[in-house]
Amino acid sequence: MKHDLRGIKTDDSFSFSRYTTYGLGGGAKASFFPRTKEEAVTVFDFVKENYDRYVVLGNGSDVLAADGAFDGAVICTKLLSGITRNGNRLTCLGGTTVKTLLSYCVNNGLSGLEYLAGIPASIGGLAYMNGGVNSKHIGDAISEVEFYDGELRVFNREKCNFSNKHSTMRDISCIVVQVSVNITQSDPKTVKQDIDEFLQMRKAQPKGKSCGCVFKNPSGLNVGAGKLIDGAGLKGLRVGGAEVSREHANFIINHGGSSADVRGLIKVVKARVKEFYGIDLEEEVVYIGEFYDSDS
Ligand SMILES: Cc1cc2nc3c(=O)[nH]c(=O)nc-3n(C[C@H](O)[C@H](O)[C@H](O)COP(=O)(O)OP(=O)(O)OC[C@H]3O[C@@H](n4cnc5c(N)ncnc54)[C@H](O)[C@@H]3O)c2cc1C
Repeated sequence: MKHDLRGIKTDDSFSFSRYTTYGLGGGAKASFFPRTKEEAVTVFDFVKENYDRYVVLGNGSDVLAADGAFDGAVICTKLLSGITRNGNRLTCLGGTTVKTLLSYCVNNGLSGLEYLAGIPASIGGLAYMNGGVNSKHIGDAISEVEFYDGELRVFNREKCNFSNKHSTMRDISCIVVQVSVNITQSDPKTVKQDIDEFLQMRKAQPKGKSCGCVFKNPSGLNVGAGKLIDGAGLKGLRVGGAEVSREHANFIINHGGSSADVRGLIKVVKARVKEFYGIDLEEEVVYIGEFYDSDS
């Protein structure tokens, strides 16, 4: 099938290191940056037909890409941005960042999403991962998600089956092109104040290049992954340039290391926590590409 890719942005010198918050990772065979839903559909079809492997990249804030080049194509949603309002519902293109969304909410006095302040994500990535803070998750605010998997589909909240860092979209090879969220009318000053409070709380978070929390909190336990890692005495542990943060043990900071360093440290942390408590930690961070672990 012929696909008309004219006008669709590409980056010949693409490197994951420039598109991820870890600042790590190699190149790819090709990269595409659709700006509209239609372009996203065209690119998705093209990539599926022409490459054995592909990955959708949002804002790159929860991925660890391997140091070597990815043997496939990347569809990055960075330019797939825009918001429309219909009463108490905002519809955002999949690559719209939380920052852009919250600016819109402040300017228009819209409440309900303030707790997302400071998460460096796209709304598509957030919906895909059902991201959130403490007991509040984006899935609770979502009314509909539109994604493409060879067909454009619209799923309501029930069909998205949101749970701990999970949604139906994670089980499907797809690109989330649009997310609709419910908001309520408020006044801009209050919305801004609440957002500022959440941003203030984030100041206590570790600085430096990271993906936020590396591990999911184990379900059925009252204790988070960070506390477990700390309890096992692993704060400050290093592999090469990767370090378990001394401020928050569920963060691994990249101090100029490699993806192999971060991955190596993740493996050590998992092994030590298993040894110490008999608990298997599960990664929240998503791996892209081939890692050659020394134990495999
Ligand atoms: C400093 C820092 C703080 C953080 N704090 C939080 C927090 O408080 N709460 C929280 O939940 N997370 C947090 N995170 C993690 C991260 O922001 C979230 O997991 C977020 O949902 C990832 O969104 P993204 O757009 O960056 O996705 P990416 O990292 O680009 O991708 C993550 C996964 O989603 C897929 N994906 C992304 N976009 C799409 C799309 N449009 N269609 C299909 N698949 C897609 C990718 O293929 C990948 O599997 C933090 C990260 C950092 C660096």
